[in-house]
Amino acid sequence: MDRFSLLCYYLLNCVVLVFASELNVAASCALQRIISLIPFLDLKAQYLQMKPEIDAAVLRVIDSTQYVQGPEVAAFEKRFALYCSTEHCLAVNTGTSALHLALLAAGVGAGDEVITVSLTFVATTAAILYAGAKPVFVDVDPETRTMDPEAIEAAITPRTRAILPVHLHGLMADMDPIMEIARRHGLVVIEDAAQAHGAEYKGRRAGSIGDLGCFSFYPGKNLGAYGEGGAVVTNKADYAQRISLLRDWGQESKYNHVLRGYNYRMDGIQGAILGVKMNYIEAWTEGRRAAASQYDRLLQKLPCQRPASPADRRHVYHVYAVTLARRDETQAALQAAGIGTGIHYPIPVHLQKAYADIGHGVGSLPVTEALSKQFLSLPIYAEFKPEQVDVVATELKKALPALAA
Ligand SMILES: *Cc1c(COP(=O)(O)O)cnc(C)c1O
Repeated sequence: MDRFSLLCYYLLNCVVLVFASELNVAASCALQRIISLIPFLDLKAQYLQMKPEIDAAVLRVIDSTQYVQGPEVAAFEKRFALYCSTEHCLAVNTGTSALHLALLAAGVGAGDEVITVSLTFVATTAAILYAGAKPVFVDVDPETRTMDPEAIEAAITPRTRAILPVHLHGLMADMDPIMEIARRHGLVVIEDAAQAHGAEYKGRRAGSIGDLGCFSFYPGKNLGAYGEGGAVVTNKADYAQRISLLRDWGQESKYNHVLRGYNYRMDGIQGAILGVKMNYIEAWTEGRRAAASQYDRLLQKLPCQRPASPADRRHVYHVYAVTLARRDETQAALQAAGIGTGIHYPIPVHLQKAYADIGHGVGSLPVTEALSKQFLSLPIYAEFKPEQVDVVATELKKALPALAA
């Protein structure tokens, strides 16, 4: 070959190689898109919206060396109390600790019973056990999926000390009758609002109706830290005082321990991150609500039960759960179509091996048991786009008739 042909041959090879590798990249991108067309949760999208602010907040704490509690946590507590319309907010390390301390502050201890639900994350039950008390489960309302007020009175005994309703999936429990029963029997009410930041019942915010309200800032929650976090809100100064001691080893002043406390303090970095996120929480909540109402419209005619949204409540859609007769197959069909889903929760607490000795067997909570077999949580988050809701609804529509056939 002469030099010119050699050069041509070489150049041609280069073009072929480049083209082949481009093809490869394109093919793997397409594959990627099929594997996770729509993830169940996308925490990265939210971070990217506010990256400069978050990064600055984190660096500020590192630079200040106020790594535990400190001014950023105190500033967040002020804002979160205002957000919940309560007098006090005590930040702690997890939502579970918030529940544990709320129970202790209310005087719940050994020999006491606490009426709660089994259709929840195990933390609600675990916190009652940490306090030394006994959980007593009541069933939920099939529409709202929250504590059935009509079931409460039959569960009250001379040992009952508190009622602990859960605002499941972001919808507040029916608080008026719960408060009325509690007042009549002299019981404390503690709201598990871990999934309900900013939710409302008759214009009142989650956490502000009961004697104490407990929140989680686990990353996937509606308001999430970049690690663990939680808070108790209350209007009662004596509860607030006890919780502020208990979360920090019961210290009234340094090395002066007046109560047997815990190390349940919040990190400075988490307080600073949550402070930044408070600027966005309302917009994010509205984003979730918009996606939910689009789901409501698109799924109207499908044979599935959608989340109830009573006119007197503001649902914040931590989870958008439908109930389906053939849930597991539907979930598999959606997975095959690249859509991530979840189940909140597949096994109610009373049927978990670890909590079986509480003494509620199979069949004891029929509505709870039926819902946990049928629940399927569709993807929903603040940044969820209308096109994405469309895709999920379309794939669900496709899956259901195929299963019925
Ligand atoms: C997340 C959650 C908790 C526990 O919160 P952590 O911060 O994970 O300890 C408690 N109750 C409910 C209903 C939850 O969803």
